[in-house]
Amino acid sequence: MAVISQDIYCPNCGKQAERHHLIDQRLTRTQCYHCDYLLITCQETGRVVEAYAPGFSSTTCSL
Ligand SMILES: [Zn+2]
Repeated sequence: MAVISQDIYCPNCGKQAERHHLIDQRLTRTQCYHCDYLLITCQETGRVVEAYAPGFSSTTCSL
């Protein structure tokens, strides 16, 4: 399975996260190990397949 990895910054907590482009499945998965943020989108339609952002209601991150 072809996967392209990319280092990004988590949109939820701002720490280093990873984005994986799953070529075969035409999916892009953004994952953060610091806050368990997860976002899977379809590369063709841009539609969100799965999303999970912990602590959205109690986010106190100072940006
Ligand atoms: Zn994060």
